[in-house]
Amino acid sequence: MDTQINELEVNQAMAVKAVKKPYYKATAKEIVVFEHAFKNRLPVLLKGPTGTGKTRFIEFMAHELDKPLITISCHEETSSTDLIGRYIIKGAETIWIDGPLTRAAKQGAIIYMDEIAEARPDVIVAVHSLTDHRKELYIDKLGETVEAHKDFMLVASFNPGYQRGFKELKPSTRQRFVGISFDYPDPKFEAEILVKETNIDLSLAKKLVNIALKIRNLTELGLTETVSTRLLVDAAKLIYSGLPKRIAVHAAVVEPLTDDIETINALKDLCDLMI
Ligand code: ADP
Repeated sequence: MDTQINELEVNQAMAVKAVKKPYYKATAKEIVVFEHAFKNRLPVLLKGPTGTGKTRFIEFMAHELDKPLITISCHEETSSTDLIGRYIIKGAETIWIDGPLTRAAKQGAIIYMDEIAEARPDVIVAVHSLTDHRKELYIDKLGETVEAHKDFMLVASFNPGYQRGFKELKPSTRQRFVGISFDYPDPKFEAEILVKETNIDLSLAKKLVNIALKIRNLTELGLTETVSTRLLVDAAKLIYSGLPKRIAVHAAVVEPLTDDIETINALKDLCDLMI
């Protein structure tokens, strides 16, 4: 029995229904694939580098389907107990608190497990029975099985490039999910996203996208992750709020990519020529 757990921590991941429709620019057939996966209650794996719109997509889809969304950011300490639930001590009593996965299964919410491969292996084991025909969750501490609500849906994200072999998802897990790949959008779409997200001019948006394209092609730099749409959105926001363009690009695009001073200086020079 877990005792010293803070109730707040357990309740952090609340189901959220977005009031305002989140802005999401479709870049391929992801919306229709997701709609059909939802119709068939199939779990979905969103694959792709960080900052390519996976989270925004699931927020958009939850809004479109009018379903509450519970998001869990998985990390190396995330265990099945965090997801399923635990006992806590309240005054003189010991009470059981459902974790976010159990709540989502009972309420019929969409649960989004961001970076699922980061979580401890028992998390993957715990979700298995929710991803196949059983659609049920076994709560070992209560000795109970919860049958998932008909609208419950499990969605996870995975970053194949970043994991580089050591935190791979096993084929037996991957094959339980319908997969949708995300990547850096087409330049035209990416510029449109920057304009919509930040209100900068289209001409400036195009310049930022060109910088990203250039750096993404510099594979010889060996960056773990390259310029994402998120970094461009951040740069555009800084510029829109009045920071000089070059400083904004240095801070929002170059600095997050690497700590190697030589590479930083080379990238700054390159960006200065392009904006
Ligand atoms: P991920 O979950 O893949 O790491 P996010 O969904 O958080 O990435 O995307 C980062 C940011 O990039 C978003 O907050 C949004 O501003 C922007 N973005 C990326 N792709 C899109 C898209 N297709 N439509 C709208 N915004 C996008």
